Amino acid sequence: MNLCELLVRANKFQPQNGGITGICVLCGKETNYGFKAKDVVSNNFSGWGYMYSGNCFCPVCAYLFSDQVFRHKSWVASEKEFQTFKNDEALKVLLNPPEPPFFIYIAKIGQKQSWLSCLHKVAQSRKNYFIAHEKYDVAIPIQRSEAAKFAKNAQLALDYGITKAELLSGEFHPKTYRLALEGGHESFLNELKGYRKNLTWEVIVDVSRGGTKNSQVAGDSLQHGELAEDENVEEPARHIQSSSTGSGQTSNALRGHVKTQQLLWYPIDTSRSDENSR
Ligand SMILES: [Zn+2]
Repeated sequence: MNLCELLVRANKFQPQNGGITGICVLCGKETNYGFKAKDVVSNNFSGWGYMYSGNCFCPVCAYLFSDQVFRHKSWVASEKEFQTFKNDEALKVLLNPPEPPFFIYIAKIGQKQSWLSCLHKVAQSRKNYFIAHEKYDVAIPIQRSEAAKFAKNAQLALDYGITKAELLSGEFHPKTYRLALEGGHESFLNELKGYRKNLTWEVIVDVSRGGTKNSQVAGDSLQHGELAEDENVEEPARHIQSSSTGSGQTSNALRGHVKTQQLLWYPIDTSRSDENSR
């Protein structure tokens, strides 16, 4: 099933027939009911680089261009349903995809059609899958357990006051280094640095938000979701003092950061972590 077919099913759409016989420029299939390109895409369409030789759009592929919501909004599609979501919810959607087959798209400014590079990347598994993000011309691979770990570390870093620019570049401000050193968190910074240029990490950082709300999202996926049951999920870095009891009590220390927006590092309190994990 390709992406166009998935979207047709997700929206329970009945494709209309055109009058052209030939080859679809997008999926490459033969059709007797195709549409002329000028009737499907606008004159300034910039996605021709993703097209193959052909003379029309088949009815199913034409559907992809018939509704601007596919371009303007972030969405998740499965055989059962099609839903748009706000980017504040993107992390939750990314870490909790629907039953396969599915596909997730994250729009930023809603201009590009970055899903064009993902026609044959419909997800068949909830553990390993591809998604599309408007900023990238390629499909983004997601290994869910790794993505959940990234989410937790990105959240912690943002709560500490590290900027997204630092997280993406892997180059930290002198002040960040100094405070990390003082707090004994050098290894955490080094771990973050190691994620540099990893596309999954970049997307996770993009959809992560400072504050405790998403901390809960990332934490829930690791602690309560199926991840913990069906995968060998790596425990998040030891620096994270999130509540293993699942009662949602983020450490007061962390909460302090969020409120004051100060860059502070706290020494790792292992006794507390042990206590919480019981
Ligand atoms: Zn087609």
